[in-house]
Amino acid sequence: MNDQTNAIHFGYEKDSQGTMAVPIYMTTAYEFRDSLHASNLFSLKELGNIYTRLMNPTTSIFERRFAEIEGGISAIATASGMSAIFSSIVNLCESGDNVIVASAVYGGTSTLTGHTIKRMGIETRTFDVTNPSNIEFLIDNKTKAIIFESLSNPSLAVADFDKIVEIANKHNIITIVDNTVATPYLCKPIKLGCDVVVHSTSKYTGGQGLALGGIIVEGASCNDKIKNNPRYSHFNEPDESYHGLIYSSLPFPSFTMRLLLCVLRDLGASASPFNSWLLIQGLETLSLRIKEHSKNALKIAQFLDAHPKIKKVNYPLLASDKNYGRATKYLNNGASGLLSFEVESYEEALRIADGTDIFKVVVNIGDSKSLIVHPASTTHSQMSKDELANAGISDTLVRLSVGIEDCDDLIKDLEKAIG
Ligand code: PLP
Repeated sequence: MNDQTNAIHFGYEKDSQGTMAVPIYMTTAYEFRDSLHASNLFSLKELGNIYTRLMNPTTSIFERRFAEIEGGISAIATASGMSAIFSSIVNLCESGDNVIVASAVYGGTSTLTGHTIKRMGIETRTFDVTNPSNIEFLIDNKTKAIIFESLSNPSLAVADFDKIVEIANKHNIITIVDNTVATPYLCKPIKLGCDVVVHSTSKYTGGQGLALGGIIVEGASCNDKIKNNPRYSHFNEPDESYHGLIYSSLPFPSFTMRLLLCVLRDLGASASPFNSWLLIQGLETLSLRIKEHSKNALKIAQFLDAHPKIKKVNYPLLASDKNYGRATKYLNNGASGLLSFEVESYEEALRIADGTDIFKVVVNIGDSKSLIVHPASTTHSQMSKDELANAGISDTLVRLSVGIEDCDDLIKDLEKAIG
């Protein structure tokens, strides 16, 4: 089946009630047939529901559907995008390890990797996604992952997938790609050779700013990278915390299986069934919405590009943009609703953000409503001056998350605010 059909039907087999809509299984726990059944589930002799921190039927439908659309073999939904990223890192790393992370990433990812995991003894080394050849010099035998965004928030850098994947495969290192901004309808990192895809499903997937969520999708390549690889010895040796289980010996996807049985079990940043249900509704129309977001954003980027008061516009599908070549190579159907632009001064940036009516000042992206924000003082404000410069975020930068309102109305709104 094609993606749009899968987005509406995949993974849902109707129960005896025949409900057309996926039911919300709002439960904390599940009754076992008897104690033997319970112990069989815990020892993986049988698979089934144990407790909603680990699995839930509504969430499972969302996970299966999302994995199918991303081209993966398995997925785990989490409470938020940040918990998806953190869980993925913790699944691979322990104190003394390092990860190689793109410098142009969402502010939360930057503080997580640059500060929070550093306090746990995990080092972060940074690279430029648009020119990633230096990755090779950053790798050592303690490097556990290469982490980047397919389309970065808010600088809209398009990753050089071919180069990154080539280096990662040469050294047998797992790549983790945040595909939140591009969505699987514009970019498919697993098809491009990447191993793990993460999302903040709070954004385009939900689409209406209703629910927080995250998801981790495992590609088929993970098992091969993990099996017998000394870099990932904890997948290949008995896990004392799970009665000696060796994750790589299971007939299941290793990355998500360990993430579920160990990381989700212990950290508990699980998806709420109600949020999974909302995100299932969003997923049904994602492919339609992301094309509209992208169409509106391109028109607005062209309008801003021609405006005398705008110094620079970052949108990868502008022919003048430095990412244009990679955008036409790696993106299909558009370049999302996210764009950013530079103005003369900090004061001018704030004046424009405060001068719009339809664009609301909000720290979110991917909503059907148009949003405007000044990243340096909000979403990316906890980054140092150097980190901001490396991420391409100046204090004269304004970010738009272009919604799916009428585009002429949006352009008039910006025209008035810019003056
Ligand atoms: N990844 C990207 C690219 C984001 O833009 C965000 C949030 O804006 C996140 C991850 C974090 O997601 P969440 O807010 O769902 O934790």
